[in-house]
Amino acid sequence: MPYQFKLDPVVLPPESEDLRCEVREFLDQHLTAASPVERCRTWFGFDPQFSRKLGERGWIGMTWPKRYGGHERPASDRYVVIEEMLAAGAPVAAHWIADRQSGPVLLEYGTDTAREIFLPGMAKGEIFFCIGMSEPQAGSDLAAIQTSAVRSDGGWIVNGSKLWTTGVMEAHQMIALVRTSPAGVSRHDGLSQLIIDLSTAGVSRRPIRDHQGEEHFGEVHLQDVFVSDAMVVGELGNGWAQVNAELAYERSGPERYLSSYRVFEELAASARGGEDVVLTVAIGEMMARLWALRQMSLSVADGVARGMNPVVEAAIVKDLGATLEQDMPMLAQIYANQPLACPSSLNAMTDYLLRFSPIFSLRGGTREILRGIIAREMGLR
Ligand SMILES: Cc1cc2nc3c(=O)[nH]c(=O)nc-3n(C[C@H](O)[C@H](O)[C@H](O)COP(=O)(O)OP(=O)(O)OC[C@H]3O[C@@H](n4cnc5c(N)ncnc54)[C@H](O)[C@@H]3O)c2cc1C
Repeated sequence: MPYQFKLDPVVLPPESEDLRCEVREFLDQHLTAASPVERCRTWFGFDPQFSRKLGERGWIGMTWPKRYGGHERPASDRYVVIEEMLAAGAPVAAHWIADRQSGPVLLEYGTDTAREIFLPGMAKGEIFFCIGMSEPQAGSDLAAIQTSAVRSDGGWIVNGSKLWTTGVMEAHQMIALVRTSPAGVSRHDGLSQLIIDLSTAGVSRRPIRDHQGEEHFGEVHLQDVFVSDAMVVGELGNGWAQVNAELAYERSGPERYLSSYRVFEELAASARGGEDVVLTVAIGEMMARLWALRQMSLSVADGVARGMNPVVEAAIVKDLGATLEQDMPMLAQIYANQPLACPSSLNAMTDYLLRFSPIFSLRGGTREILRGIIAREMGLR
């Protein structure tokens, strides 16, 4: 039977569109100091004070229950806030992973203790999380992780290393995938998720500098780190299913097609007037791709909010989105040095994004891995 794509059209309700105006006003007031290039960092721009302001506004943990510091607002409101933040290039990195992923994971699988300790602080923009999946010997092949947790009195003793961990130097906690028992019939058996306090004895971390000198990720070494039972996330041994469900949050949001939006907007502004027909057509084509991806992403967000797990659809959004995000600075490159209407910042933004954009098809799962998932779920391999 052919694969049935679940990408139903979604229209945002008028209340969410009203919220959009409010968010734009807020951003106009608070983003005055950021340079055009700084704004190109989008969800890698780290500013804890900005995160705290968003927390005060009620724009973190928007859909979470009030008893955990959330605001019980519809997923469409959250989508609008995220979309506007990214389109403006707001520095959302500090709270990004907690809001997008770790908070929802704790709501779904965490113990009451963990929810009570972390969720209110996350929603205030004060507690930051990171994702500890990849390891030196296990990137794409996640089931090959070697970090292990061994039973101890009242908890677990963890040993191992995590690599490429976004935001690890600033994060307070990490949700780590670890092996709590040997692989069984499947390599996916025996994996579990634990919350590791990064200030605990035995944790050491080091930033990794990327090819343009930025240190947005790092490595963590865990030596005899104690984690209490209350910090186990979900059922022991169910880690594989949990991380796969989590990846649907990670792969389909507006951050998967808006990472280069700043340069695209600048290019479109430069081309206003339409004298350059070739450029106008190219911008129109790119806008059509952007809009189609936005509709797909909205459908996935709607599916996740309704308790579905649209893994294939999310992988498609991520793969097509990364391609679009890489094509945008490539198009800008053709025009960056030409006398367009307002090219001053276009050159710098293009230069930055051309160097930054190769990571877009690596972070969150590489292109080949995503295509493998799509092919497998469609019964093609
Ligand atoms: C900016 C950035 C941020 C990141 N943040 C985090 C984070 O916060 N937490 C975290 O846990 N990880 C994070 N990662 C890690 C990222 O998810 C991994 O880099 C990714 O899973 C690839 O792993 P690897 O680097 O070990 O490459 P490998 O797995 O060694 O892959 C190398 C190449 O081989 C290809 N390949 C591998 N296996 C196959 C296969 N079976 N079929 C076809 N091709 C294959 C890959 O597509 C890739 O091109 C981040 C990475 C980047 C670049």
